[in-house]
Amino acid sequence: MDASGSAALGLYISIPFCRSKCTYCNFASGVYPASQHARYVQRVIEDTGAAGLWAQDMGVQLPRRVDTIYLGGGTPSLLAPELVEQLFSALRTRFSVDPDAEITVECAPGQLSDETLAALVRAGVNRISLGVQSFIDREAQESGRLHTRAIVLDDLRRLRAAGLSNLNIDLIAGLAGQTLASWQESVSVLLETGVPHASVYMLEVDEDSRLGRELLAGGARYHAGLVPTEEAIARMYEQAIERLAAAGLAQYEISNFARPGAESLHNLRYWQRRPYLGLGLDASSALHEPEGYVLRANTTDDLTAYLAAPQPVETAWLSPASQHEEAWFLGLRLNAGVRIADLEREFGPAAVAPALARVRQLASSGLLAFDGKTARLTPQGRLLSNDVFQEFLGLVPDHTGVA
Ligand code: SF4
Repeated sequence: MDASGSAALGLYISIPFCRSKCTYCNFASGVYPASQHARYVQRVIEDTGAAGLWAQDMGVQLPRRVDTIYLGGGTPSLLAPELVEQLFSALRTRFSVDPDAEITVECAPGQLSDETLAALVRAGVNRISLGVQSFIDREAQESGRLHTRAIVLDDLRRLRAAGLSNLNIDLIAGLAGQTLASWQESVSVLLETGVPHASVYMLEVDEDSRLGRELLAGGARYHAGLVPTEEAIARMYEQAIERLAAAGLAQYEISNFARPGAESLHNLRYWQRRPYLGLGLDASSALHEPEGYVLRANTTDDLTAYLAAPQPVETAWLSPASQHEEAWFLGLRLNAGVRIADLEREFGPAAVAPALARVRQLASSGLLAFDGKTARLTPQGRLLSNDVFQEFLGLVPDHTGVA
C-alpha cells in the first residue's frame, strides 16, 4: 500500500452523456444533445491545464507521471473521434503518461462507432469496460439499456479485432424480472465470452434512481415489483463468486473478479489510497500534501454551470486519523485484506490498537477472518460489508475538517 504521495497519479475523466437513462442509474449522467459534447471536452481540457495551479494553491502534490487513466460516465464511447483525440492530446501534453499505463474507457454496447473505436486505439486506450448488466435481452431492455446479447457479442468481436483484449463486463444482480435461472444464464454467457475481468454489482436501492424511487414509494412503471428479494440477490452474488472463481476469475474486491494480472489497476488505486485527479462533472480527487494530510476534492454535478464557466471545487482535508479509518474500510474491500504491520508502520501501533480489538470482535462474530497478521472479510462479511465498515468509524479521534 502506498500513501506517500510520491507515487504516480491516476486520472479519472467523467463523460456524463448517455443515449438513454437506465432505470437503476444514480450517477450524474443524462441524455444531452451531441452539440454539448464539444463544449464539455473543451471545459475538461481547460481544467486539465488549470490543475497544476489549483494544486499549487491548495498546497498538494500533483505528480506529472500518470500510470492509469479511466474515462467513465456516462458513456464515453459516445464521443466523436475528434473529441477523443483532443482530450487525449491535452492529457498527454499536461502529464507524462507511462508507455505501459492502463487506459480504460467505459463503453455501452452498441454505442461505439468504428471511427471512435479507431480513435480510442490511436489514443493508446488498452482496456475497455462494457456495461452489459444482463445478457437476457428483456432484462436489459426493461432496465433502459439499448442492447441485445447479439450486440454485446458483436462488440466484443470488434474490440478484439481492433487489438483490445483487456476487457471487462459489468453485470448487475437484482434487476427487475431477474430470476436465479436467468442470472445463471447471464453468468454463463459472460464466462463463454472469455473476458479476463468481470464486475458484479448487487442492485442498490436509493432515491437517486427511478427504479429505486419506485421501490421505495410504489408504482409499476419500472417493474419495481419484479425486483428479486434481498435473499435472492445475495444468492445470485454468491453463485457468481463460485462460478467465476471456478472459471479462473478470482474475486479480488467485493464486486470485482479477474484472471491473474488482469485486475483493474485504476480501481485498485482507490482501495490502496494512491493519488488520483478527477476531471469533469461530479469527479473526485485525492491528493497528498507534504505534512501527511490528504485533500479530497469533488467537482460540481451541475452540467449547465460546468459548461458555462470553471466552478468552485468542494474540498475536505483528511487528517491522518481519517485516513486510518479509510485504510480499514477501503482495504477490507480487497480480498487481500488489511495487513496490520502496514497500518502500524503508517499510523503507529498505539493508533491501531483500538481497531485491532474491533477486528477480534468481528472475527468472533464470523464477519472477519483474522490470523493475527491480516484481516479479511469472510463471505458473510462481504454480504454485510457496510455494517462491518461502520464498525471502524469513530475508532480514531480527530475527524475530517472541511476547508
Ligand atoms: S449507461 Fe451508465 S451512466 Fe448512463 S444511464 Fe445507464 S447506468 Fe447510468
